[in-house]
Amino acid sequence: MPKMRKRLLLIVLFFTLYTSVAQDIVEKPDFVNYAIDSLTKKRINTSLELLFSNIIKGVSNSKYLTSKHIKLTESSLKVLEGYESRKDSVTLKIQDKRLINMYPISDHEYSLLISYTIYKSDVKPKIAYLVRLIATENNGNITFSIPLEYYTRYWKIKEIGNVTYHYRGQINKERALLFDQKNTKIANRLGVKPQKLNFYMCDDLQEILRLRGFEYAIKANGQYRDGYGVVAKTIFSVMNNEDFSHDMFHYYSGQINEHKNRNWITEEGVAYSWGNAYYTDRNGGMITHKRLVGELRNYLKQNPKTNLFDLFRQNRKIFSHIAPEISARSTIAGLIVNRVEREKGIEGVLKLINAGRQDKLKSFLKRTEELIGLNQDNFNSKVEKLILDY
Ligand SMILES: [Zn+2]
Repeated sequence: MPKMRKRLLLIVLFFTLYTSVAQDIVEKPDFVNYAIDSLTKKRINTSLELLFSNIIKGVSNSKYLTSKHIKLTESSLKVLEGYESRKDSVTLKIQDKRLINMYPISDHEYSLLISYTIYKSDVKPKIAYLVRLIATENNGNITFSIPLEYYTRYWKIKEIGNVTYHYRGQINKERALLFDQKNTKIANRLGVKPQKLNFYMCDDLQEILRLRGFEYAIKANGQYRDGYGVVAKTIFSVMNNEDFSHDMFHYYSGQINEHKNRNWITEEGVAYSWGNAYYTDRNGGMITHKRLVGELRNYLKQNPKTNLFDLFRQNRKIFSHIAPEISARSTIAGLIVNRVEREKGIEGVLKLINAGRQDKLKSFLKRTEELIGLNQDNFNSKVEKLILDY
């Protein structure tokens, strides 16, 4: 590179760095009415800038975070770190974050709302996130957290076995007891210790996002049926249902099985059979595997020409009258898992779980052939028998 061009490049680089230092990472627009004293405002601003500079760099933030729920705060900030890491050299330079609301919620705590805007030359600006953080002042030191504690401060708490429920109104105790039993049973079957859990009963995914600090997230707009967890020993319910046993299986399985070996046809089958179908039905009830096997039997009666292998391979949705997400493949996989467990015990189930992540249908059938002699050729007759014998 010629010397002149190199010097020019350095000068440009210097000015870019300089302007990015001079400018706040989180813009504080003139229209925002900061309802707090100027010293606190300055302290919050300084800490907020340090926090967001780390988020952009993708480095640890723990010293700027409030200790309560720190792991959950970190998991929310990871989402923002991911967003920053996907930017290109142009979008990195755009000042896209604004502090648009700030007010005290107690004598030492402040609610902050930060907007993320996507600016692209050819389209109208779009809101990517609205993030709510709670700033806490302690001896002049400011730390931040998600608003979980603040939003749930009037909620009730009840311990049922290993599970501490946080809820409004009331919980369904019968379902909570069932979940506690399943949590213990699933862990025992896999030979791991049952986890003690905090369980937040939320109306829908949008409420979960709100508790996690996302008043709005563009990618989740319109989504409402999912739950969240297990993260930091915490669960956020699926549509206000007390039973989260489907994902408890995935959680424990992740503790003992390697990522690259886990076959997700088996995983879903075990999660359906030992846990449930994850989603709720139209009445908010959890959907059991037993019920789905009954439904599958009825379906076959009404559609006698059904090719079970095709149904399994294509993973066609045939249970939409119960819930749109329910999988016929996972219902069948659950039956196969049960058969493997009956013939080969938990060891057999573990072998089927570890059939391999790649080429999941092929790896699954290769393993079922080894374990119980089930393959593509005899699939229809063998699986039909499993359904009828259930
Ligand atoms: Zn699953």
